[in-house]
Amino acid sequence: MEKSPPCDKCKAQCCRHLAVEIDKPTTKKEYDYIRWYLLHKNVSVFIDHNNDWFIKFNTDCEMIQEDNRCGCYENRPKICRDYPSKDECCEFEGEDDYFTYMFDTEGEFSDYMDSKKRDWKYKKTKS
Ligand code: SF4
Ligand code: SF4
Repeated sequence: MEKSPPCDKCKAQCCRHLAVEIDKPTTKKEYDYIRWYLLHKNVSVFIDHNNDWFIKFNTDCEMIQEDNRCGCYENRPKICRDYPSKDECCEFEGEDDYFTYMFDTEGEFSDYMDSKKRDWKYKKTKS
């Protein structure tokens, strides 16, 4: 049976941010850019289950009404019409399926990088 998202309960979470795909960082400079993004308020970075990287701006759409409904429903952008897709769950339904890592602060990202460096060192000593 097709699932329908619990929109009436979640207070329009999907209308309260936007996410844009970014290149996966591979150099020290690119990792440092991620740190810089995260030093800004209301900015997060996440890695989804396909290992794609996104920057997320945690900011409400101007069109959300007090009752959490869309103020331009008939004319809403296509990306809003298409979300969530038939095969995709929305973030409210299953955060664990939606992303692998979510970094809300520079500290969280630095911890992640430290753990990656430990893994890389460990793999190097094993090979
Ligand atoms: S995040 Fe999901 S449940 Fe919430 S409003 Fe958007 S589609 Fe509905
Ligand atoms: S246009 Fe409407 S559906 Fe789209 S993000 Fe804004 S409030 Fe949500």
